[in-house]
Amino acid sequence: MTLSVAEIGAFTGTVLLGRDIPAAARIDRSGYVPVGAPEALVRAADVEDVRRAVRVAARAGWSVVVRGAGSGLAGGAAAGAGTLVLDVSGLQRILEISPADELAVVEAGVSGAVLDAEAARHGLRYTPDPASVAISTIGGNIATNAGGLRCVKYGVTGDAVLGLSVVLADGRLVHTGRRTVKGVAGLDITRLFTGSEGTLGVIVAATVRLQPIPIDTVTVAAWFDDVEQAAAAAAGVLAARVRPAMLELLDESSLREARDLLGLPASAAGAFLVAQTDGYGARAEAEVVADTFRHWTSRLEVGTDPAAADALLAVRRAALPALERHGRTLIEDIAVPRSRIAEAVRRITEIATRHSTRIHTFGHAGDGNLHPIIVVPPDDPAAYTRATTAADEIFATALALGGTITGEHGIGILKRAWLSRELGPDALDVQLSLRRALDPTGLFNPGKALGQ
Ligand SMILES: Cc1cc2nc3c(=O)[nH]c(=O)nc-3n(C[C@H](O)[C@H](O)[C@H](O)COP(=O)(O)OP(=O)(O)OC[C@H]3O[C@@H](n4cnc5c(N)ncnc54)[C@H](O)[C@@H]3O)c2cc1C
Repeated sequence: MTLSVAEIGAFTGTVLLGRDIPAAARIDRSGYVPVGAPEALVRAADVEDVRRAVRVAARAGWSVVVRGAGSGLAGGAAAGAGTLVLDVSGLQRILEISPADELAVVEAGVSGAVLDAEAARHGLRYTPDPASVAISTIGGNIATNAGGLRCVKYGVTGDAVLGLSVVLADGRLVHTGRRTVKGVAGLDITRLFTGSEGTLGVIVAATVRLQPIPIDTVTVAAWFDDVEQAAAAAAGVLAARVRPAMLELLDESSLREARDLLGLPASAAGAFLVAQTDGYGARAEAEVVADTFRHWTSRLEVGTDPAAADALLAVRRAALPALERHGRTLIEDIAVPRSRIAEAVRRITEIATRHSTRIHTFGHAGDGNLHPIIVVPPDDPAAYTRATTAADEIFATALALGGTITGEHGIGILKRAWLSRELGPDALDVQLSLRRALDPTGLFNPGKALGQ
């Protein structure tokens, strides 16, 4: 149904219709381009705008695609014909920081980087830190249950979420969870909404945990001859029973490209690991990490200088943008049990050779979460076909090794075909039943995440 601006009614935020909607508002960073254009874009200024937009879409027979910052890598926020894009990135208020209870209450559009900076004024920090922390929203991070660099010690976004405020398909605003560290009253629907990829409701605010800023942080960087050695060293660190806050891996080509993007001289290494330990035991743990790395390499650096640590981590954060310069990227996101990282890396190398495809691998080695990135040159359909075949084999490898097809980016639209292979029919059916219970008409993001 087509609605005029007058029929849509008054919003505090902005409403755009049809051709006035900018192309950027219908895609995310996955490279997926949906068919057709959205009918309407509502840039919500407050929770009432969100409720109103949900009701308008239901009345018009449009589905609702909730959008944070659009940094997603699975096509979750991609919006085509018959949709209303509900952009909640304008919900920007930090409603409360409670130093005594070590928590914050924020609106969904706040970025993790902004909250972290604000929390630092109280000696606290917000630990979820996807590499996109400055260009994504906390609402989007919760909706994708985003991971990040510090997960190995501090957990994923969901581990920091205590409660949510969510607008449901019928326009009701519900509050889930609590402000306490413990709490088991009722079903844990906070967790249910976490990672639901915009399919169950609109997260408008969250109560999140904050952690003390560590008293000490040590960074250990190491350069290896090849990526398999680096993967083995990462597994070795975990087997040594220390708990680094970060343990990140880059293979030779990711390292080269990231350094190039940052204007740094090339390094001769075949792979790179950067680990960080923090807290009262940071120095002792860093010694164990360095000793472990020395089984595989003598090229390492240990430091406590925050500027030097930031420079090393900038290389890790630049890996994806650096590769995106070279064409369409298939950004994969498998996770395997940590004991099997080296095996996963070896199998990815074999897949690349078998399909004459260049696969660049980096990721969160401490979580067993690898991002094999396949760059497809523009206008080369044969290369694209080889790339998708290679990607399918990477997913199959992840499952065969006891892992998952997505560690943190989500299913979105791009991995729907693989979800039932990972979950199995009965578990998928349970998930679809839960979705129907909360959103009986399939208003929110149909076809994404669960495939219906
Ligand atoms: C350079 C780069 C680095 C990245 N690094 C990481 C990383 O380290 N770890 C990681 O996990 N991801 C990473 N990502 C992916 C992306 O940043 C995350 O998935 C992020 O959580 C998405 O947040 P967003 O605000 O951009 O959400 P969007 O892309 O706008 O939306 C993502 C999904 O969440 C839904 N959604 C968004 N907001 C809400 C809401 N308020 N309520 C309900 N549903 C909502 C959308 O419908 C969509 O399905 C990276 C992306 C880039 C471009």
